[in-house]
Amino acid sequence: MASPIVTEFRAERRFLVETLQSQGISDLAVLRAIESTPRHFFVPTGIGRQAYEDRPIHIGLGQTMSQPSIHARYLQIAALTGKERVLEIGTGSGYQTVLLAHLAEQVFSIERVGPLLERARQAIRSCGVRNVSTLLGDGTIGWREFAPFDVILVSAGGPTIPQPLVDQLGEGGRMLIPVGDQEEQILALLTKRGGVVERRDIAPVRFVPLKGTHGW
Ligand code: SAH
Repeated sequence: MASPIVTEFRAERRFLVETLQSQGISDLAVLRAIESTPRHFFVPTGIGRQAYEDRPIHIGLGQTMSQPSIHARYLQIAALTGKERVLEIGTGSGYQTVLLAHLAEQVFSIERVGPLLERARQAIRSCGVRNVSTLLGDGTIGWREFAPFDVILVSAGGPTIPQPLVDQLGEGGRMLIPVGDQEEQILALLTKRGGVVERRDIAPVRFVPLKGTHGW
């Protein structure tokens, strides 16, 4: 996927990639996506440099962009090969959406907060990726029109696994979703084989609440 080459903060991006490698991120495609995505496009203006520190950033409207090491770990678990149709719930800043655009074939991303999605759309466009479709709406009901999906990534934590998302997962598909209470969740990896869904719990995580019909 061709992105315009952004020279600004190039050294900071390289340093971030080296930090992630030292933390055990070894998926080269994930590291390459992080190195080529200008994370400063996704943070409020004036704090560009902070975008390359390994910490979460408030993006306004009560929402937070996860720290880069969380995205990296999460994407490493997703193990994308470049051929998948991915559904992302919780576009937020749009940063992970662009990483996904580099790692998968087609990305469908849903966000429920209008002004956040407007900003994200602009930032995504500035990165030059063309394989992303976005929707303003309730991600807990999925995006039936484009189902089935090979991979579903939920970037907010809900009380249960939304059934529409399970239904929209294709055969052999996998879903990563934080499930638990509003403060802490377990990142669950679901796989669908022969119509049967298997669940494996990966690690405790903290995501913002998944709101909506099948959320909080
Ligand atoms: N990956 C994003 C994380 C954003 S935080 C980033 O890097 O910026 C999670 C996002 O999920 C928030 O923007 C929140 O508004 C959104 N969200 C919560 N519940 C949702 C739902 N039911 N449908 C769509 N988006 C939802």
